[in-house]
Parts: sequence; structure tokens; C-alpha cells
Amino acid sequence: MRSRLLLLAVAVTALAAVITSWVLDAAAVDHWLAVHTGTVNESGPYYGFWSGFGSDIAEFGIIGAIGTGVYQMVRKYNCHEPRCWRVGNHSAAGGQFLLCYRHHPDYHGSRPTSAMIKGLHRAHKQRQASLDEKLHRIHGSSRSSDADN
Ligand SMILES: [Zn+2]
Repeated sequence: MRSRLLLLAVAVTALAAVITSWVLDAAAVDHWLAVHTGTVNESGPYYGFWSGFGSDIAEFGIIGAIGTGVYQMVRKYNCHEPRCWRVGNHSAAGGQFLLCYRHHPDYHGSRPTSAMIKGLHRAHKQRQASLDEKLHRIHGSSRSSDADN
């Protein structure tokens, strides 16, 4: 939070410096701007702009669209832990979150080792077997109650 305030203060100060220098020496800044946007020393006042800098406006839109797409892809696939830039390829909480190995609660901040994978697999199989057993018990008791009726 403090770094964001500092960054905002620096940006505001830089913008104020640019505006102040433009006001103090408007002719030089206007000439620099005219040269770099292509509106000076051409056959018409806007010919240079539209055949130079102005023709790139559509390209800025395309670059913006590509940048937005890349940003959305990164937001979708990176770790859901705030401020983590790793790829989140381990699901947590039943698939609600994609987390990296450092933030996944089962991995305790380290890469999953072979022993950890085997242990988690064994626990998963035991949990599935327990669920299957409960289902069989429920189906077995419902069938017997159906037969009673
Ligand atoms: Zn992470």
C-alpha cells in the first residue's frame, strides 16, 4: 500500500514537471511534439499526421486487444494466491482455485516429492474406497427396505 502511494506521488510529480516545462517553454515542446507526431514540414497541416503517427492509431487498438488477451490468459492460469505469478496447475478446494506448488495446502510450500505423491494418492484411494463402501451400504439397505415393502 505504501509503495503504491509512493508510486502515485512520483507519477503526479513527473506529470507536474512535464506540464510545468511545457508551460515555461511551450514553443520547444510544441515543435518536438509536431516533429514526433508528423504534423510539421509537410504539404498540409494534417497530412504528415495521418500518413505517419495517426495511421498507427488502429495499430494501438490491435496491440491493446492483444495485450488485454494476454493479460486475461495470465489472470486465468496463474496462481490464485494474491501477488503470485507462478502458473497454478494444482486444483484446490474441489477445483475452485488453481494454485502453484508453493501455495497449495497439501504441498506445504515445496515441490511435490515422489513420496508425497504416493502418500496423497494412497489417501485419495482410501477416501474413495470409504465412499464406495458407504454407497454400497446405502444401496444395500435401501434394496432390503424396498424388498420389505
Ligand atoms: Zn502461488
